[in-house]
Amino acid sequence: MKKTNMLIIGSGPAGYTAAVYGARAMLNPIVVQGIQPGGQLTITTEVENWPGIKEIQGPDLMTNLEDHAKLAGAKVEPDVINKLDLRQFPFIAHGDGDNIYEAKSVVLATGAQANWLGLESEDKYKGFGVSACATCDGFFFRGQVIAVIGGGNTAVEEALFLTNFATKVILIHRRESLRAEKILQDRLFKNSKIEVKWNCAVKEILGKENPLGVEGLVVEDIKTQKLTTLSCKGVFVAIGHSPSNELVKDQLRTHKGGYVITKNNSTQTSIPGVFAAGDITDFKYRQAVTAAGMGCMAALEAERFISELKK
Ligand SMILES: Cc1cc2nc3c(=O)[nH]c(=O)nc-3n(C[C@H](O)[C@H](O)[C@H](O)COP(=O)(O)OP(=O)(O)OC[C@H]3O[C@@H](n4cnc5c(N)ncnc54)[C@H](O)[C@@H]3O)c2cc1C
Repeated sequence: MKKTNMLIIGSGPAGYTAAVYGARAMLNPIVVQGIQPGGQLTITTEVENWPGIKEIQGPDLMTNLEDHAKLAGAKVEPDVINKLDLRQFPFIAHGDGDNIYEAKSVVLATGAQANWLGLESEDKYKGFGVSACATCDGFFFRGQVIAVIGGGNTAVEEALFLTNFATKVILIHRRESLRAEKILQDRLFKNSKIEVKWNCAVKEILGKENPLGVEGLVVEDIKTQKLTTLSCKGVFVAIGHSPSNELVKDQLRTHKGGYVITKNNSTQTSIPGVFAAGDITDFKYRQAVTAAGMGCMAALEAERFISELKK
């Protein structure tokens, strides 16, 4: 049994930032890394919006954060939590093998995963022209044609945002109407840079090898089965995100497709002593720096929770 004041589940920007603050507050935090040590940024290339560093590879940024957490005194465990019991106190978490963690506070930082199309070619060009985050990667496609896949609010917002960079944005949608709010649709239809391809499904992403990069898409007209090739340099998949909430979805209050609910201006969840930080709770911003900010808040709030226990 490993006992701690602060169990941090997840090793993305939220988890490691909580670990730095938790360690410096003498809480002896344990970070359980999960199956993706370092989180989502380990599957991208350049990160150009982490303040203070003009450009860094995603995996390098996460190695730096891990080193910082360890240097501050956090224990980093290469383990996966497969069961979390928040109905008893101290909280109990079961890791792989026989590992059991007993914690007086829990920071849930299990993140989220973008939903992808599931094409082999999509995997190949992820980080090399294929992205799921316009805020993160739109800047790389200045003066180019960009395709956005999807028909909900996110897809329309991303298409509108990407017109700041692109010469043209092609929105590709499987149906003949959008699910996005009317006000967003109005903005989209008024924007002369955006062309919508209705009733179309992406079959393949085309690209080149050296250097690896996207050159276009093959789309199928769902009604006629006719295949068309479109030229573009960037492909943004905007078909939703899934918060990684398996451990807590039956124990904590969630909303908007499973995001953990926290109190206003706080990371406090529906169970005292359990805090949620980063993409597991954030359906709006989904950025490394906002995740890190919430990790800091969670650690400060956990510290206050623990000191109240001692009174
Ligand atoms: C391709 C790509 C490029 C991006 N580029 C940028 C960018 O340039 N700038 C930017 O600001 N943002 C970018 N983002 C978004 C950014 O990566 C996320 O907003 C950020 O990583 C969220 O951090 P997080 O700590 O909440 O969770 P994540 O990074 O999602 O990490 C979640 C962690 O939880 C762990 N975990 C999950 N389940 C368990 C479990 N059961 N037990 C233990 N651990 C578990 C995982 O192993 C992982 O370590 C990008 C995202 C992607 C996918």
